[in-house]
Order: sequence, then structure tokens, then C-alpha cells
Amino acid sequence: MKLQRENQLLKRRLAAFSKEASKNDVLLKRSLEREMNLLEAVSLDELLHLLVHGLADSYGLESVSLALCDPDHNIRHLLPSEDAAKNTMKGVIFMNSLDNLPPRLASFTQPWLGPYRCEDHRSIFVDVKNLGSVALIPLIRHDRLFGSLNFGSSDPARFTQQHATDFLHRLGAIASFCLENAINRARLIRTGLTDVLTGWYNRRYLEDRMRGELARAQRNQQPLVCLLLDIDHFKRVNDSHGHLAGDTVLREIANRVASKLRTSDVAARFGGDELAILLPNTKTDEARHLAERIRKTVSDSPIEVRDGLEVVFTLCIGIAGLIPKRTMADFDLMRERLLERADVALYRAKSAGRNRVELYPGYECGS
Ligand code: GH3
Ligand code: MG
Repeated sequence: MKLQRENQLLKRRLAAFSKEASKNDVLLKRSLEREMNLLEAVSLDELLHLLVHGLADSYGLESVSLALCDPDHNIRHLLPSEDAAKNTMKGVIFMNSLDNLPPRLASFTQPWLGPYRCEDHRSIFVDVKNLGSVALIPLIRHDRLFGSLNFGSSDPARFTQQHATDFLHRLGAIASFCLENAINRARLIRTGLTDVLTGWYNRRYLEDRMRGELARAQRNQQPLVCLLLDIDHFKRVNDSHGHLAGDTVLREIANRVASKLRTSDVAARFGGDELAILLPNTKTDEARHLAERIRKTVSDSPIEVRDGLEVVFTLCIGIAGLIPKRTMADFDLMRERLLERADVALYRAKSAGRNRVELYPGYECGS
């Protein structure tokens, strides 16, 4: 009898454990999804919107705000316009100094959870009253506090000092990283180094960056590989379905290509329907594998050109690699050589029937 009871007890515990485990599994999946959304935000204003409104919705919170220290108005100037800033930025508070943060946060490096106190928290929860508890998550990059992400709940038991903060800490780190990235990208767009359509770097940036990458390749005697990509018969989509349809296709192809790249790769829109990718410290056979994966990701599934109309696109990729000799000093010349060779390979791919990858043989670059 006793054994039977113990057995039942154990079974119940096990069932409770599995229930808890599957609940945790669902929570983990949801929070990974939220993190992916943040990481995939294409612009600063989209990211701000996701942080404030997206997180409030997905956590069911009465209030979420984002306080950002912006003494020189640099971040504010990156937003599309005053109007857009007003409409989408409700909940984003720009501060001239970190002194405006609640006293408990300014010296904190960990999330602070506890009861809502109007006198402490009203500067970061504007237009909200009667919150029960709050979680204040510091935003830190390179050991510097630059703002806070603030969760407010009407439930006094939602955020207490007894709660674990690991997950909020992680969310703060991801939000900080995404913000820094989005701010830098927005700055690049402003300074004319990014292509507005694809969000990739532009040719000017690429050519400038190539000089630095070639110098590094020379120092380490490692190959620098360049991929030139050109969409096959791209003109037809413009001719048949209009320029906007063409833009959609270009953007989708750029996204598919980007999904195959590493963070160390440098991707740029070289011009028109031509894209260029720099692969530092990569051998040409590795580059060929990558190029094949890129070619496949574009041709494997159709792209919706306009409502209900799907078309399969293909592209050609020319590859060239270079290990700059130690004696060479003219980086502009090396850059032209590398681009020319990738272009020769690309031309071969086009002549051989399109939807192909071609490699320019060898790494040599004479004086
Ligand atoms: P190929 O297979 O030989 O590469 O043929 P193609 O039609 O792709 O070649 P071509 O270089 O003649 O055509 C590229 C076209 O891309 C011509 C140009 O009008 C179009 N284009 C360039 N920039 C843009 C853009 O930003 N948006 C759109 N929609 N079209 C663009
Ligand atoms: Mg083309």
C-alpha cells in the first residue's frame, strides 16, 4: 500500500515536472522569438517601436518605456522626421543626462525590480499612474550606461526583488546591442555610406573598406576574397512588372544573400542589380561553397513580384581572391585588380548560360 502511494506521489511529481518543463520550453521559445525580432529590426525607428510597443504587447504590461541618454540630440536627429518621431516614439524618452534616471538606476549594472514609487519613477513612466511594480533594466555598451528599458505592471507581485533577473539581464544586453547597431546603421545612412533600398553598404563604403581589408590581408598574408553577384535578366522584371516590383525583388534577393553571410563578411550594393561581398581570411574553395549556397538560396524558391505573382530568379557569381605581396604598396591598384578579376569571372558565368558560379584562378598579384 505504502509503496503504491509513494509510486502515485512520484508519478504526480513527474507529471508536474514535465508540465513545468514544457511551460518553460514554450516561454523560452517565445523569448527567443522576441529576441530574433529585435535583432532583425531593419531601422532605428522600427527597433524603438518593437522595444516599447512590441514588448508591452508580448509581456502583457501596462507600460514599457525606453529612456535614452542623448545629450547632443544625435539619436533624435537620426529619426525620420519630427512627426514620425512623435507618432512612433511614444514611450521613448530622450534624456540630456543620466541624472534624470531614477536614483536607483544610475549606479546599477543589474536590473532593478521592486515596487513603483511615483517620486522615483515618474520621469520614466510618463502619463501612467497606479503601477504596482516595475523592472528597470540598464542599457550598457562597452561598460557605459546609456539608458534603461523599463517595464511597469499594475500587479505589485509581478516584479519583486525575489524574482530572478537573468532573463531581464539578457534582454537588456540584446536590446543594448541592437540599439547600438541600429544607431550606427542610421548614422551610416545619414553619412551616405549605405544603400537605402537594401540597407547594405554602398560602393563608396566598399571601396574604402577594401583598402583596409587588403592591408590586413597583406600583414597576415591571408587571402581576401571578393564575390561579385549580378541578377540574371533583372531588367525583365522592371519591363514586365514595373520599377517597384523590381525594387521588391532586389530587396528580397539581398535579404536571402545576407542570411548566408557571417558577421565578418562585408556586403555592399555595388550598383544597379550588382552586389559585392568581401570575405576576409577565406580560401577560394570555401568561397565557392558559400557562393553555391547563395546561388541556391536565390533560385530555390520563387519571389512574390506582386500580389499573387511569383517568379523564380537566378544570379551569377564571380569569385576572385588575392594575397597581397608584402612588397606591394598601391592598395588602390590591388583593389582594382581584385574587382576586375571578380568581374571577369562574373562575365564568364553569364556567358556560360547564367545561374552559375565562376572562379578566377590563382591569388597572385604582381607588382
Ligand atoms: P543580365 O542577366 O545580363 O545581368 O541581364 P540584366 O537584365 O540583369 O542586365 P542589365 O544590367 O542590363 O539590367 C540591370 C537593370 O537593373 C537595368 C536597370 O534599369 C535596373 N536597375 C538598376 N537599379 C535598379 C533599382 O534600384 N531598382 C530597379 N527596380 N531596377 C534597377
Ligand atoms: Mg543583371
